[in-house]
Amino acid sequence: MKKKRKTNKEMKQMPLREAASLNWRAVRIWWRIAPDRFLSSALYAVLNAALPYTGIWFSARIINELAGNRNMDRLLQNIWSLLIVAALLSIMRAAAERWKNAVQAGCYHKSQELYSKKFLCMDFEAMDRPSTHELYAMIRQNSFSGLGLYLIPYMFEPLLTAAAQLLGAFALTVSFFTSRVPEGKGPLTLLNHPLIGLAAAAVMVLLLFLSAFLFARADAYFAEAGSEDILFGNRSSAFYSTAVAEKERALDSRLYEQERIWDSYVHKATVFTTKGRLAVLSRGSIGWLKASSAGVSGLLIGLTYVFVGLKAYGGAFGVGMVTQYVGTITGMAEALTNIFQGLSRLRTNAEFLKPPFRFLDIPNEMYQGSLSVEKRNDRKYEIEFRDVSFKYPGSDTYALRHVSLRFEIGKKMAVVGENGSGKTTFIKLLARLYDPTEGEILLNGINIRKYNYREYLSIFSVVFQDFKLLAFSLGQNVAAGAGYDADRAKDCLAKAGFEERLLHMPEGMDTCLYKDFDSRGVEVSGGEEQKIAIARALYKDAPFIILDEPTAALDPISEAEIYTRFSELVGDKTAIYISHRLSSCRFCDEIMVFDQGSVIQQGSHETLLAEEKGKYAALWMAQAQYYQ
Ligand code: ADP
Repeated sequence: MKKKRKTNKEMKQMPLREAASLNWRAVRIWWRIAPDRFLSSALYAVLNAALPYTGIWFSARIINELAGNRNMDRLLQNIWSLLIVAALLSIMRAAAERWKNAVQAGCYHKSQELYSKKFLCMDFEAMDRPSTHELYAMIRQNSFSGLGLYLIPYMFEPLLTAAAQLLGAFALTVSFFTSRVPEGKGPLTLLNHPLIGLAAAAVMVLLLFLSAFLFARADAYFAEAGSEDILFGNRSSAFYSTAVAEKERALDSRLYEQERIWDSYVHKATVFTTKGRLAVLSRGSIGWLKASSAGVSGLLIGLTYVFVGLKAYGGAFGVGMVTQYVGTITGMAEALTNIFQGLSRLRTNAEFLKPPFRFLDIPNEMYQGSLSVEKRNDRKYEIEFRDVSFKYPGSDTYALRHVSLRFEIGKKMAVVGENGSGKTTFIKLLARLYDPTEGEILLNGINIRKYNYREYLSIFSVVFQDFKLLAFSLGQNVAAGAGYDADRAKDCLAKAGFEERLLHMPEGMDTCLYKDFDSRGVEVSGGEEQKIAIARALYKDAPFIILDEPTAALDPISEAEIYTRFSELVGDKTAIYISHRLSSCRFCDEIMVFDQGSVIQQGSHETLLAEEKGKYAALWMAQAQYYQ
């Protein structure tokens, strides 16, 4: 956790080209998922920039009139125009803001959807990799701090406002350079000389850029130095605030006072203290840069006043124009500062665009076959493992080694073995969550890789050890869909031993599980969850049913019920029953004994028990003593 922080000299900005290309990709993504976000922001930005200039333009004319001819008609005309145009623009801006806010409210969901969709379609292998989750955790933490992909549409609006503001200011400033001091005004006519105009413009532009540059530099310091500290601060406080609220942690934290560990991390986060690096920098480099920027900006305004004042004094334009030109040049300085600041933020943020792009670019490497799985009413699907070996990605050891076996249609098979012997891995390969490292798996004689993956999965119902239910209604959980056949779902629940409990569910099949979505939802025990998961597998009514330790969370009575009803439960399906409790496998037609990734014995309970020196007999004896 102790990490050496970069010194200010070591902090380097990303090359402009790279930052631009990353940002361009981010803009394209946003344009695809939420074009209205750009359109609403653009409309708002233009109106927002136009409104102050309307005031400046008409005010200048009103002052000119007051200080000059004092023509009442023209004065009233200008006042009315100002009121009407400003009111119209304000109404339009309010409507645009309403639109923009409504669109913006849905954007968090849209950016989340981007990641959710990616998760849903990525290879299981990529989903199972810890690095994928680390990457996603980083993305979430960055967006929590307002960095990464999430920042892009937020930056678009101020940048566009600033650009519109700059353009407007430019348009209203042109006449300052073109208006001439009338002849006969002595040395003031020198101001008409093109070189003087050019020099004034050059100095103004120089000061404008210098002030904006200094401000942006200060901001870049803040972003570069701060993002690391802000991230760490936000990460530790987010972890602290969410972890203490999780009920799963409540027992541990009370018994072991784990908050002492968290406390120490939270106190290391210095971003919110006056001694932190950000605070020190703010008093040092950042402070100096911002002060210089303000100084240069002041100089620019001062020079503008002098130059505009001299021209007005010479009679080039009315006194009202002084307010217009000073206003527009101040506006230009502000707009340019905002543009520099925005671009510099985008450049700093580019680094935080890399994790989302790395995540979205995770390739789907699993070969996708196109062959249709034959729909057979007789459920005659035969599966064969032919010399299959498998290593988990990144692992050097084989989790399965030279496994060869064939499932006979309609038979009840048991897979037994000690923990870590490869039983679950075997099921994961069968369901093609991974492809074998060596050997092949065949469905009706054809390598399963050649089948359309979705269709292939449709022939399996699996209750995994670590299954998960959803916080929706009981019926929806059983049917794994929004709509369901209530009678069929009830029947499956009854088969799984949930009949009695169903009578006590307040809203029957419509009762919500858990309280995430419905305060009247019910909490179900581990054993009850397992029964619902078995009912879900039965409801799918696939030709293969696989139960991985299906009774681990059940009490002994429910467990015995499942065994005695197993045949009725699975009907004519081919069933694979995985357990390390041998007593629960006796009723299966055939038992396969796994040991260190290999099938070392195969046969019925009686034949295996007869092999006295075999693993099965040894395991049986070891477990039997607890039952006697
Ligand atoms: P069982 O179901 O018999 O308890 P598993 O199939 O879960 O055994 O595990 C077989 C072996 O594969 C074990 O050595 C286990 O540590 C390893 N293993 C399981 N899952 C993974 C994984 N995702 N990555 C790496 N190794 C794994």
